[in-house]
Amino acid sequence: MTASLIAADTWRHLDHTHDPAITSWVASANTPETDFPIQNLPLGMGRRRASSAGGTTTAAVETFRPMTAIGDQALDLLRAADAGIFPEALATVLRACESVGLNPLMAAGAHLRGDCRLALFAALRSDAPDTLPAALTDALIPLSELEFSLPCRVGDYTDFYAGIHHATSVGKLFRPDQPLLPNYKWVPIGYHGRASSLGVSGQSFHRPLGQTRAPDADAPSFGPCKRLDYELEVGALVGPGNAAGQPIGIDAAEQHLFGLVLLNDWSARDVQAWEYQPLGPFLSKSFATTLSPWVITPEALAPFRRPFQRAEGDPAPLPYLDGRANRESGAVTIQLEVHLQTAAMREAGDAPVRLMGSDFAEAYWTFAQMLTHHSSNGCNLQPGDLLGSGTQSGAMADQGGSLLELTQGGKQPLTLPNGEQRNFLQDGDSVRLVGFCTADGRRRIGFGPCVGTVLPALS
Ligand code: CA
Repeated sequence: MTASLIAADTWRHLDHTHDPAITSWVASANTPETDFPIQNLPLGMGRRRASSAGGTTTAAVETFRPMTAIGDQALDLLRAADAGIFPEALATVLRACESVGLNPLMAAGAHLRGDCRLALFAALRSDAPDTLPAALTDALIPLSELEFSLPCRVGDYTDFYAGIHHATSVGKLFRPDQPLLPNYKWVPIGYHGRASSLGVSGQSFHRPLGQTRAPDADAPSFGPCKRLDYELEVGALVGPGNAAGQPIGIDAAEQHLFGLVLLNDWSARDVQAWEYQPLGPFLSKSFATTLSPWVITPEALAPFRRPFQRAEGDPAPLPYLDGRANRESGAVTIQLEVHLQTAAMREAGDAPVRLMGSDFAEAYWTFAQMLTHHSSNGCNLQPGDLLGSGTQSGAMADQGGSLLELTQGGKQPLTLPNGEQRNFLQDGDSVRLVGFCTADGRRRIGFGPCVGTVLPALS
């Protein structure tokens, strides 16, 4: 296979891989409801679950290896490399990802990621040469038989606060006269998060213990969190990154974004309220954060890009955060939703209930701006670093991306279809984040599941 002539800024360009008329020989990829048509081709790290790998014999547990999703199947990219569908340079990098994560591919830059998409698209399309379905059948594994690791080794995790509707509505709860602090429209606000407690969809965690102080109490106490919440966010994973002391300019920023995932920033609100001043969130956030396993690439998101615009009267970003490409297509439309399934619903066989929906295009800062700001002081970003977007609420009261907003700080409980009520999360609750992209004349693509479940506190 010859090296592709793919340009470095493929994330903004449409080509044959976005043609909605092209189908796959993997029939399940052609159903309208799938998250993974051939136009998506996300990247993740998976392996066959041990229970289905060896029957009664104790077969060696497989290594986690790079995969793409196609319909209800995953394609093992190491086996696909053995079948010869990739250029050799790409095959070498994919093999280096085995048991490690996608970091080697992230470090290699947008060219190889683009090559990977082109090769996968050519191999999986319906009119691929007849030899390919036969050569790749052994490389396909049903998604239902897979387990995942995080898509990469995340060295550092930073959570931003780019959801202006969230910042405004939460600000109103604490400061009715001045919901947004004066720096909000100038600085992409963020804090350094905790990478060690990141988990992949399917994660369950114990309700955290923490120090809290009730409003009417003289002194704080220590015990299980009483106001446990989720936050609906999008995560961006860093590609090549930068050397210390060499900031990434806004026009180069997209070359350092490897792709997007869904991110649930679980939050202990009572712990947060007591600890957050003066240095920001600490133990209220660091006990668990859940990511979706599939990384949606900038190439797959190209049809869903939008101009980045500010409301009339808002300040223009400072020059280092303002560039032509960012203005023309810095935003991306992603429909985001939160679904909740309580333990009682699960026992009754009830499907999760949708709590809200919002659009990521309304974020006040783009990931390019967040990444540029992050590196602007010389801080080095590394392949696989994670940037969280901040909670993505919509403008309306019923579009809150957390229970803190949907229940007005816990004062107005939600009533679920089975009659249960929620101010905050109860033990056994599962939260599912959903993300998908649609546009006129384009194939719908989705992010796949991002589910986490609350276990009782350890006593
Ligand atoms: Ca957050």
